[in-house]
Amino acid sequence: MFFPFFAGYGLYILFSLPALLLGLWAQAKVKSAFNKYSRIRSYQGLTGAEVARKMLSANGLYNVQVEQVNGFLSDHYDPAKKVLRLSPQIYQGNSIASAGVAAHEAGHALQDQNAYFPLQIRSFMVPSVQIGSWLGPIIFIIGLLLANPLGTQLAWAGLILFGATALFTIVTLPVEFDASNRAKAWLSTSGIVSQQEMTGVKKVLDAAALTYVAAAIQAVTTLLYYAFLLLGRPRRA
Ligand SMILES: [Zn+2]
Repeated sequence: MFFPFFAGYGLYILFSLPALLLGLWAQAKVKSAFNKYSRIRSYQGLTGAEVARKMLSANGLYNVQVEQVNGFLSDHYDPAKKVLRLSPQIYQGNSIASAGVAAHEAGHALQDQNAYFPLQIRSFMVPSVQIGSWLGPIIFIIGLLLANPLGTQLAWAGLILFGATALFTIVTLPVEFDASNRAKAWLSTSGIVSQQEMTGVKKVLDAAALTYVAAAIQAVTTLLYYAFLLLGRPRRA
């Protein structure tokens, strides 16, 4: 009964190891870029909260509030409540990294204002992903263990549920890249950071973008692994 898991183990490593290594590398890059540029004060010395406020107001988004939220790099924009929440290091910090992250989050608010299509799809998918990311694999494994036609149907249902999670990580890519592009464009044209400082902003934001690429590759390779397990299992119908 456990045969598919053993047979698939080597396959899983083959599929997932490159994505896993890319993910770890990307996370190390974010950490080192953030550590470096969160220690360098921007020449204007604005806090992340001030940078976000300026970028929002410059685009007419006076209704979007900027608040502080606990956690490390827990920064996010809430499209439902129209609130931009920044972690203490970003909210209070006046570094190049703070400016970059704050402007990136404000970039998400701008996407919301412009009804940016990938953001709309992403928001629409959130509820199904919250369920599918954990329920999908559980249903899939139960289906695989049952080893009967009902089990096969269950396994496919689990696979499709988890597929929504993989799709979500792909839809996230244009959303994140676009928010960073909006941040870079505004930071350089508004003169909030100097051209020299833009190098640091780019390093922080590009490293963060790479973590999303790694997450998408991980989700897709996991999905493919599930599909191989299901298609390659012995049939006992
Ligand atoms: Zn983002």
